[in-house]
Amino acid sequence: LFVDHPLAKGNRVSLSQPQAHYLFGVMRLAVGDAVSLFNGIDGEWRGEIVVAGKRKGELECSEQTKPLQMPPDLWLCFAPIKKTRTDFIVEKAAEMGAAKICPVQTDYTNSERIKQERLQAHAVEAAEQCGGTYVPEVLELKKLSAMLDHWPAERQIMFCDETELGVATSLASAVRGPWAILIGPEGGFSPSERSRLHAMPQAHVVSLGPRILRADTAAVAAMTVWQTALGD
Ligand code: SAM
Repeated sequence: LFVDHPLAKGNRVSLSQPQAHYLFGVMRLAVGDAVSLFNGIDGEWRGEIVVAGKRKGELECSEQTKPLQMPPDLWLCFAPIKKTRTDFIVEKAAEMGAAKICPVQTDYTNSERIKQERLQAHAVEAAEQCGGTYVPEVLELKKLSAMLDHWPAERQIMFCDETELGVATSLASAVRGPWAILIGPEGGFSPSERSRLHAMPQAHVVSLGPRILRADTAAVAAMTVWQTALGD
C-alpha cells in the first residue's frame, strides 16, 4: 500500500478514507493484521493495523521488509494519445521501472492537456501491484522543443523512429548512465523534430522492427529493448 508518510520503526501511519474502505471493507482485514507499506523513499515496511474504522484506520510500522529499490535513471518521454492508451503507457512504465514519466507535446500531438494527478495515481497503483518500492513521478505536459532546448548533455536519448530503418543504431554498445526513451504520437515526428534530434549528439535512432507499432505498443517494446541492453 502506498502511503504519504515517513516509514520507520514505531511510526504510525493514518489511512485515507478509500484506503480504509479497501482494507477493512473489501479485504476484510482487522486490527492485528499486517499490510506492506511503501512511500517511494523508505523501502517496504510491515505495518500492523492498530485502528480499523469504517472511514479511517491507523497502522504501526514494525520492520523493514525490503530496502528501497531505485529504478535505473530512465525517463519515458511520450506524446500523449487517447486517454486509456495514455493510462496504459503510464502503468507499464511504472511496472517496467522508469524513473520519470514525461508526457511531451510534439508537433503532431493532438492532446494539449493531460490529467497529471490521475496519471500519477495510475503510477502508484501499478507500483503497488508489482511490489515495487519506488513510484515514478509523472511530470506535467511539456513541449518537446522546450525540453530539447535545455536537454542535459549527459542524458542519452533512445529516439524511436519507424522511418529510420536504414540508420537505426543498436544499443548493445551504448554508454550506461542517464537515458530517456522518446516515443512519438500517432502521426509520428515532424521533419523538423527529426532533423533537430539527428543533430543532437545524445540521440540514438532506434528501430523497433519493420512494422509500425501503435504508440502504446512502441513504448512497451522500447522499454523492453532498453532494459535488455542497458538495464540492471
Ligand atoms: N508516423 C506513423 C504514421 O503516422 O503512420 C506512425 C507513428 S507510430 C503509430 C507512433 C510512435 O511509435 C512513433 O513516432 C515511434 O516513436 C514509435 N514507433 C512505432 N513503430 C516503430 C518502429 N517500428 N520503430 C521505432 N519506433 C516506432
